[in-house]
Amino acid sequence: MKKQKDCHHCEGKGYIDIRDCSGEIQREETCVFCGGTGQVIEEKEVKK
Ligand SMILES: [Zn+2]
Repeated sequence: MKKQKDCHHCEGKGYIDIRDCSGEIQREETCVFCGGTGQVIEEKEVKK
């Protein structure tokens, strides 16, 4: 069974803030974990 949930890497936004060392946001980058959708398909663990 598959279910969609918010991507926790980008908190459902679909992009990640790239910050410099002072903590200022430099740019936004598409989240590679969800491909910019902000949602990930979570698959149930397969039994071994
Ligand atoms: Zn994401």
